[in-house]
Amino acid sequence: MIISGHAKLAGILGWPVSHSASPCLHGFWLDAYGVDGAFVPLPVHPDDLELVVRALPRMGFCGVNVTIPHKEAVLNLCDSLSETARAAGSVNTLTFSTDGSIYGDTTDGDGFMRNVQDQAGPVDSKGPVLVLGAGGAARSIVLALIRAGFQDVLIANRTPEKAEAIARDLGAGITVVEWDNHKRFFPSLSLLVNTTSLGMTGCPPLSLSLDTLSKQAVVCDIVYKPLETTFLATARRRGNRVVDGLGMLLHQACPGFRSWFGVMPTVDNVLRDHVIKSLNLV
Ligand code: NAP
Repeated sequence: MIISGHAKLAGILGWPVSHSASPCLHGFWLDAYGVDGAFVPLPVHPDDLELVVRALPRMGFCGVNVTIPHKEAVLNLCDSLSETARAAGSVNTLTFSTDGSIYGDTTDGDGFMRNVQDQAGPVDSKGPVLVLGAGGAARSIVLALIRAGFQDVLIANRTPEKAEAIARDLGAGITVVEWDNHKRFFPSLSLLVNTTSLGMTGCPPLSLSLDTLSKQAVVCDIVYKPLETTFLATARRRGNRVVDGLGMLLHQACPGFRSWFGVMPTVDNVLRDHVIKSLNLV
């Protein structure tokens, strides 16, 4: 590890942030590419968000990743936004200019699509895709699916108003379906995605019978702790192609690393194994 007086600084801003895998994966890349830099956890209470974000460029930070619960609140603190962040209404990557101005982007949706391509290969974009959940991650993923050419995107959420807001904001091709009645679409799906926090360590499991799900459907879970949720294990055992959430996390981190540290990093099995082992994800 190289940290000199000239070290470039970045970090992850959340509340809490101790669960985040970002310091582990950025630390791996800093070592691998011999970058004089550091990536640190930044636990910031929502009441202090503006104060901290405005201070970070003045403290020499190049930028930060943003996680729960700040992804929407930081939108208003940005001087400029990528078109994707504006459309998704969410920011997960801030880059600071030397004049202190703040640029916001979201890379969650692109990270999701790259991970699906990596782990499952091509998915039929003509068949319907069902997204479970309508939180911040779902918003970015639905936008990425539409931009990737998926023509029939269904969203089911416990709180239907949040799914309706995504459909309203992101436009045509999105249908809100009832949380208790979404299984009727299972036989025709080409892609089924869990974006709820169900199944995450410490949360109840996503208890769903997959008996009627098409065998052609690719099944994704964006939860990565545990690496294989009960939902994914059930899908894998019945022969569906499955995609875990870790690859999304690794891919979404690449653009930030490039803009802060000047190297486009690679996502490969060495990195993946390092994160799984360091964070005890299995
Ligand atoms: P969020 O904005 O808080 O949304 C949480 C979602 O989970 C909402 O749709 C919520 O439904 C649903 N939910 C929570 N408890 C539920 C329950 N008991 N029954 C049914 N639905 C429930 O969170 P987020 O940022 O979208 O993140 C969601 C998950 O994705 C988290 O586990 C997070 O760690 C993971 N994630 C992974 C990555 C990655 O890179 N792999 C990136 C971002 C997020 P309501 O609207 O009804 O409350």
